[in-house]
Amino acid sequence: MRTIDSLDVQGRRVLVRADLNVPLDGDTITDDGRIRASVPTISELAGRGARVIVCAHLGRPKGKVAPEFSLAPVAARLGELLGRPVKFATDVVGDSARATAEGLADGEVALLENLRFEPGEESKDDAVRGEFAGRLAGLAELYVGDGFGAVHRKHASVYDVPGLLPHAAGGLIVAEVEVLKKLTEQPARPYAVVLGGAKVSDKLGVIANLLGKVDRLIVGGGMAYTFLKAQGHEVGRSLLQEDQLDQVRGFIAEADKRGVELVLPVDVLAATEFAEDAPHEAVAATAIPADREGLDIGPKTRELFAAKLADAETVFWNGPMGVFEFDAFSGGTRAVAQALIDSGAFSVVGGGDSAAAVRKLGLPEDGFSHISTGGGASLEYLEGKTLPGLAALED
Ligand code: ADP
Ligand code: MG
Repeated sequence: MRTIDSLDVQGRRVLVRADLNVPLDGDTITDDGRIRASVPTISELAGRGARVIVCAHLGRPKGKVAPEFSLAPVAARLGELLGRPVKFATDVVGDSARATAEGLADGEVALLENLRFEPGEESKDDAVRGEFAGRLAGLAELYVGDGFGAVHRKHASVYDVPGLLPHAAGGLIVAEVEVLKKLTEQPARPYAVVLGGAKVSDKLGVIANLLGKVDRLIVGGGMAYTFLKAQGHEVGRSLLQEDQLDQVRGFIAEADKRGVELVLPVDVLAATEFAEDAPHEAVAATAIPADREGLDIGPKTRELFAAKLADAETVFWNGPMGVFEFDAFSGGTRAVAQALIDSGAFSVVGGGDSAAAVRKLGLPEDGFSHISTGGGASLEYLEGKTLPGLAALED
């Protein structure tokens, strides 16, 4: 992959595909981690005299203009973090975008409106995507791919535009790929992976692939209940994916066969309902009452998971251990995050919610070796898949 060092950007319009997909509450950005991660590349390009045109997506407006998914608040925050004004185009490839791009002086930065307001961005039809990619590429002379969180998407701005312009990978993508390589090529052992989050189905591919690579697989969060059920335990009203039970039974057998230690919760915080202030108590994972739902791992499990991480040399963590958005059910996620920090292992956090949890809980970000900006992207990389956005930057 060529890096931006190889591009002569002075005085030229450079389209930067960034990942600025941040959580919003109204128009308040609740976690600006991805914007901050995008700053170094944009800053460097602007500092070298480029006319920087940033493009990105936000949420899932599905090809239609939807004001609640406008990138306007992101433009303001990006400007604050860059310490220079960011011009905002109110469309993606229309009059405003063209005028904004053409009006940029050397070292100035603009942000286009949400790429996903245009149906061409995500279209499965190569021609439709290609047509939109052509218009996007027409705004600039060079392309820099830096939106790591979107590289697993075969979208116009990620996959097609780099084919139309001289291109390079930005610093964020270079850094992310370097870390993921370390996880896949001869990781220091013991190598432990902690998986949590809501759905097993999101993580099937990565589990299948990791079973051949890791020494320990630790499963918490909402997906643990499908594992517990697969082992024959009742899980009450906890999150359960019945249709994944066979697959999960297969994983349990496979782990056993390969000598991978599979570590599941031994106790959970069982609540009366899915609510911030729901009454709850710790119960054994094998005795969850029928009318309760598990919203976090329990205290014994926190100790168990921490012990399984203490001597690890490499750890990858994806997915919160409980409903960390509710303070009462954030303790398990905090405990696992702290165990990663304490382990001294080469530790990588992947996943939007996991990264947000680290920051929400006030844990030191520099306690981890790396916090990835891409959940799906890092998982697909670990699955061994070819990521369209990386492949497009290769050639
Ligand atoms: P990431 O974005 O880090 O990949 P996911 O998107 O897979 O993580 O999962 C995050 C979500 O999982 C959070 O919103 C969290 O509330 C939810 N979750 C975790 N544990 C549970 C649980 N026991 N019951 C319901 N939801 C859960
Ligand atoms: Mg998520």
